[in-house]
Amino acid sequence: MVPVLSPEALAAQGVEARATYARLAAAGLKLDMTRGKPSPEQLDLAEGMLALPGNRDHLTESGEDARNYGGLQGLPEARRLFGAMLGVPPELLVVNENSSLAVMHDCIVWALLKGVPGSAAPWVGQDVAFLCPVPGYDRHFGFCEGFGIRLIPVAMREDGPDMEEVERLAADPAVRGMWCVPTYSNPTGATYSEATARRLAAMRTGASDFRLFWDNAYAVHHLTENRPAPHDILGLCAEAGNPDRAFIFASTSKITLAGAGLAFFAGSKANVAWYLEQAGRRTIGPDKLNQLRHTRFLRDLDGIHRHMEAHRRLIAPKFEAVLEALDQRLGGLGLARWTEPEGGYFITVEMLRGSAKRVVELARGLGIALTPAGSTSPHGKDPTDSILRLAPTYPSLAEVRAAAEGIALCIHLAALEADGLERAA
Ligand code: PMP
Repeated sequence: MVPVLSPEALAAQGVEARATYARLAAAGLKLDMTRGKPSPEQLDLAEGMLALPGNRDHLTESGEDARNYGGLQGLPEARRLFGAMLGVPPELLVVNENSSLAVMHDCIVWALLKGVPGSAAPWVGQDVAFLCPVPGYDRHFGFCEGFGIRLIPVAMREDGPDMEEVERLAADPAVRGMWCVPTYSNPTGATYSEATARRLAAMRTGASDFRLFWDNAYAVHHLTENRPAPHDILGLCAEAGNPDRAFIFASTSKITLAGAGLAFFAGSKANVAWYLEQAGRRTIGPDKLNQLRHTRFLRDLDGIHRHMEAHRRLIAPKFEAVLEALDQRLGGLGLARWTEPEGGYFITVEMLRGSAKRVVELARGLGIALTPAGSTSPHGKDPTDSILRLAPTYPSLAEVRAAAEGIALCIHLAALEADGLERAA
């Protein structure tokens, strides 16, 4: 990314950018583009669900009373519905409480304390490492940081992680897991290609109990009319002779209600049996009324897609507003590039090396809160200091537009400062 304009033209831009910054700073904005949360209007889409299953409607399709204990794996009707969404047979799906992060957390803790199917011993006390595509999701990194699991970064590309690198690193027996967000990755929006999924399923690993932590958080969160189907990672792993390789996670946090949805675990028969064995010590059963509520409300896969269309109508304009603002100020300058995601919750901006922290600081001066620079890298440290994650779903469209213009301005200013061109003005 090399500036393509003459020093004089850039100097003139510096004058304009600083004047605009001063004007915006005086306007006293208060905007937040930090976390990928659904907006109140998105939550309103599921408001009707709060009245379900309704008075006296507590019997499941097999006539069981959903108010009572039991049903550890989840209701068959809920497993059928969300199995269809994730491309997983219902018998290999477990429906849990509201948070998929909690399910991931449990799997890591149980792997540490007990090992997973195929482990010679529990992971705890051993040198354990996870591969993590970067830019990636800070909460995935946080699990590993919290439990002393080494994080090994791997570059993220448009069709998934750099597979040459993944295959080389996975040969190390210390590498026991890998974080994957296969559809509309957090934060780049990249979707793994079929070839990437096949290579992950088939690659040789040094550890016999290696697991893909396959977090399909955005499986149906499309921003265009394209609806790529989820990869059949369980089938691909089985076909490659590694049937137990994938742990699948997902939730309805960004489908129905972020704080009151359903979370899922899926895996091979052996993995599901392992999961249920541990989970059965932890609880007598999940909240099956919430499962009924979800099946009554969403009904079938078409119902899910229709519901996600309504989300798209609310959030796609916000993504467009960010892209427009970035393009308007920075297009053709060679100072930054950004993803144009077809789904998910984020836009990633890559700017000149060494300028991301400065952009966050400049944005704070305008009253715009951004995710801290570095948060998309392990330990919160981006050695290139060049990546920013923008989360446009929560604020109103007008706020998103104002914030994006401010952010684009800060990227521009930081780049001018970095080149010393500002002083030339
Ligand atoms: N996984 C990814 C990749 C996410 O981006 C998020 C939300 N930001 C989550 C999981 C959170 O999942 P849950 O709400 O089910 O705990």
